[in-house]
Amino acid sequence: MGQITLQDVQKSFGPVHIIKGADLDIADGSFVVFVGPSGCGKTTLLRLIAGLEDVSGGKILIDGKNVVDTPPAKRGLSMVFQSYALYPHMSVRGNIGFGLKMAGLPKDEINRKVEAAAATLNLTPYLDRKPRELSGGQRQRVAIGRAIVREPKAFLFDEPLSNLDAALRVQMRIEVTRLQKQLGTTAIYVTHDQVEAMTMADKIVVLNGGKIEQYGSPLELYERPANLFVAGFIGSPKMNFVTGESALQRGAATIGVRPEHLRIEREGAGGWQGTISVAEHLGSDTFLYVDAGPLGMLTARYIGELSLHAGDRVSLVPDPQRIHRFDDGGNALRG
Ligand code: ATP
Repeated sequence: MGQITLQDVQKSFGPVHIIKGADLDIADGSFVVFVGPSGCGKTTLLRLIAGLEDVSGGKILIDGKNVVDTPPAKRGLSMVFQSYALYPHMSVRGNIGFGLKMAGLPKDEINRKVEAAAATLNLTPYLDRKPRELSGGQRQRVAIGRAIVREPKAFLFDEPLSNLDAALRVQMRIEVTRLQKQLGTTAIYVTHDQVEAMTMADKIVVLNGGKIEQYGSPLELYERPANLFVAGFIGSPKMNFVTGESALQRGAATIGVRPEHLRIEREGAGGWQGTISVAEHLGSDTFLYVDAGPLGMLTARYIGELSLHAGDRVSLVPDPQRIHRFDDGGNALRG
């Protein structure tokens, strides 16, 4: 089992209040991603769960037991860091088995578990190599292997892929997701990377300034963001926001429309008029950055190639089904 519950978790460093009352229910076996801007408290919250920091208030329950006074090694969690934290003088075999050796397991049992983990992670040919003889992706797999053999209640990942190049990140992202599903072990994963969050998570926690803004599945956050912050944070390019008279729709102070929900028409077709300031042609997509006068800059996305260029006049017509409305406090209006 690996069910993790946070109840009003608080953390201050000296006078500075960093985590401002986090409540969260993480189901056994689920993959939960913490996202949010730099400094919002993602790593701090993960370290509190790991026991690497003490809470200033509240409870952390693992399978129903409050662990705030339990030392990290006794919480049954395994952490995987961005820096891998491998021992350079030890072989892959030694690194993966290190925690088990420290725990005093018999040698043949350690070997069996290390070899099974190495097979799962495609590391069998490298068991006798040293970390410096491995690629970045292989090193990261060793770090994950070390976490797996301990058979934890949950994996805690702190930006584990951020040292890898773009192509390898995509490959490892898929591997980590597949592995977590195969093992069925609860995972909490901290990242800056929206695409990682959207593709890996069963549920995403959006943090901002030490508070949880929303907790939900990737599609819930995309389709029904709770407030302006989540609406602006999830989705790339960002949602367009329009305020003022042209936004006044059934009590809304602001309306939001994602770039992919603006239909691009020739000038005069209704909607919002503007001049293309920049057109990006990616082949698969066309992004238009449109100067819409008093409404500001609007971004529109077209799937496929669109032969439009800077200086062309266009109408951007919002899909009425996909307009998000927000009150003057920034909270989403429904219905
Ligand atoms: P990033 O994405 O940049 O890694 P984060 O969301 O993980 O950021 P944290 O590392 O959790 O953010 O930091 C949250 C805030 O807490 C920051 O303002 C940071 O400066 C502060 N902080 C973190 N650790 C300490 C500490 N040991 N002492 C004092 N302040 C700290």
